[in-house]
Amino acid sequence: MPRARTPFAAGRLWLDFVNSDEAPRHQQGDALASFDGYLGWLEGAGLVDAARRAALQRRAVEQPASATAALHEARRIRSALRPLAERGRQAAERVRQAAVLEINRVLGRSTGVRRIEHDPRDGSFSRAFLSTGDAFAALVIPVVESAADALVTGELARVRRCAAEPTCPRVFLDTSRGGHRRWCDMRSCGNRAKATRHRATIQDRRHRG
Ligand SMILES: [Zn+2]
Repeated sequence: MPRARTPFAAGRLWLDFVNSDEAPRHQQGDALASFDGYLGWLEGAGLVDAARRAALQRRAVEQPASATAALHEARRIRSALRPLAERGRQAAERVRQAAVLEINRVLGRSTGVRRIEHDPRDGSFSRAFLSTGDAFAALVIPVVESAADALVTGELARVRRCAAEPTCPRVFLDTSRGGHRRWCDMRSCGNRAKATRHRATIQDRRHRG
């Protein structure tokens, strides 16, 4: 059995979010299959802590319609972001427009306050956005901000789909120096590809011998 891959290895939040749709044949299944699954993914990504997750879970029981609406919205955003991530800079204008439309729709109706937060553990500072609007709808904002950053910084040119397609649907940010990374994860897809090549070589030799 292949080693389980970490679901947060794409290098950028929005790419991890795109990868949350893991086909059922992969270990995780679709993280956005339920609102609980969505909350689990958000906690795994470090966007909510355990206490906040529990509070949101309780709230979802009281307001199931808003929770479902937020889940559908998250799926809709993900399906607009996947084609953008898969094609990177080569994405067709139509694909880019659809993604920008989704991003702007979310950013346009987000209300909240921006602030700087200090992490006493390592002394670092980071920007934060504290939502004052619909708590469920706001959950996806950091993901959308991350996708917006990729467009603004031109980072799309480094976004790739795993070379093990169509088996592996994962996308990732290629941060290798030469920009030639091919696999989402060397330990799983990379090794599998190497093993397949190896088997093919042996069979080829037997055939000839
Ligand atoms: Zn892969």
